[in-house]
Amino acid sequence: MWRNPWFPHEPPLSSHAERKASYFCGVDYREERLARNEVLFRNVNEQIEQAAMSQGTDEHVYEFFCECSNIDCSLRLPLTLGVYEEIRSDPRLFVVAPGHELPEIEVVIRRNTEYHVVRKQGEAAELVAARDPRS
Ligand SMILES: [Zn+2]
Repeated sequence: MWRNPWFPHEPPLSSHAERKASYFCGVDYREERLARNEVLFRNVNEQIEQAAMSQGTDEHVYEFFCECSNIDCSLRLPLTLGVYEEIRSDPRLFVVAPGHELPEIEVVIRRNTEYHVVRKQGEAAELVAARDPRS
């Protein structure tokens, strides 16, 4: 790995480039990565809903993926299409399993035993809104 001979204690080029990139994006690199994961799960859920709408009614409960920032999380949350639609009506809202919320980028606006609805804050909110699949 290349290191600057004049500043051997400088971090290697790759992480330097990452920090530079995050500076230009205006979003903290970690926050952006977390928000990206949630956007990914939201897109999967959109496909689940598409499939569900072709056969079901609003009252039927479907299993949607937890939309938390943990890429390895595969928990399913029981939601009716009505509830899911309500959450999707605001691009900053996500549905996560209880305890899967991330206080540094979101606040819980609705709690029950099966799922929490969270609203993204600050730059994370702008990032997820820009990637809204409905816009
Ligand atoms: Zn989760």
